[in-house]
Amino acid sequence: MSGGDQLDFEIRPTTAPVSAADRAALMANPGFGRVFTDHMVTIRYSEGKGWYDARVEARAPIPMDPATAVLHYAQEIFEGLKAYHAADGGVTMFRPEANAARFNDSAARMAMPALPEQVFLDSLRHLVTIDREWIPSADGASLYLRPFMFANEVFLGVRPSTEYLYVVIASPVGSYFSGGVRPVTVWVSPTYTRAAPGGTGAAKCGGNYAASLIAQAEAAEHGCDQVVFLDAVERRYVDELGGMNVFFVYDDGSIATPPLTGTILPGITRESVLRLAADAGHEVREEPISFDQWQSDAASGRLREVFACGTAAVITPIGTIRHPEGEFTIADGEPGPISTKLGERLVGIQRGKADDPYGWVRRVL
Ligand SMILES: *Cc1c(COP(=O)(O)O)cnc(C)c1O
Repeated sequence: MSGGDQLDFEIRPTTAPVSAADRAALMANPGFGRVFTDHMVTIRYSEGKGWYDARVEARAPIPMDPATAVLHYAQEIFEGLKAYHAADGGVTMFRPEANAARFNDSAARMAMPALPEQVFLDSLRHLVTIDREWIPSADGASLYLRPFMFANEVFLGVRPSTEYLYVVIASPVGSYFSGGVRPVTVWVSPTYTRAAPGGTGAAKCGGNYAASLIAQAEAAEHGCDQVVFLDAVERRYVDELGGMNVFFVYDDGSIATPPLTGTILPGITRESVLRLAADAGHEVREEPISFDQWQSDAASGRLREVFACGTAAVITPIGTIRHPEGEFTIADGEPGPISTKLGERLVGIQRGKADDPYGWVRRVL
């Protein structure tokens, strides 16, 4: 492709699809990220030539030279979104254009080439078309789509790669909350930060996750489900969780979340919640929230609910906050009414069960 934003995909259906019976068994209880569909999308990029060789083909290992740049310098980005069965048997996605735009923002930060948004969207549509039998219909289940791109040049020099591979794989996932919504306990790490000003915190790159794993392990050692990161400069303000943004709900009905200053991942769920909350009549603020304030507002009762949000679990209430000096609980530690309502509204829109005045739901098939 040169210049334009269309690309013809060569469709090569697998000659060895998983049988219907095996697929049903795999999809009965898929969990998260363990079961994969029959196909994948691949598109190549080469400097000078641009994007080319777009394919939908059998999902297979990617042969790689040991000197492939991504293995050494981690030039890699990804996205995550879900496809759902519509009530009439069609297939929908939630705000995929926002994922396409963010993918390119991440690419720009990581010195990678932009992928035309239409090609990104077409790649998703092609994959869900060929693998539509893999979209679960169980309540709360969906087909999780994972587009990603990495430096594919065989070269050990430290500079942006001249070749990239863009890939999309898909994974049927069950309901995140099989046993009902349960508030999580979060650990405020005194040791680790996630992202510094000027760093890659706003890019959805694998490296951010690599850096957060040890903090997540520290959280687990303290009996917590997730880690919440404070800002890297003052270690005072709340940034976000390892893979979810965070919201605070106050006794006057107002809702606050940390602002996008470059260290926080601009979540599409975050943006959607801000919009839904404002339209439901809540005052919404994007403002810095210090850990001290969090603690004192929880103690005074001014803070009524805290929740995390992201594509995977949509809205996850936070019940208890643990830190090296102790712990505190939000209200009675149960899911709050406002988080619950916002979550139900968002899931209702995503699954086509509620009207969508925002035009967020894209019909893809
Ligand atoms: C992906 C991600 C989120 C959530 O983004 P959504 O678009 O809502 O799924 C939040 N924080 C981090 C670090 C992420 O990688």
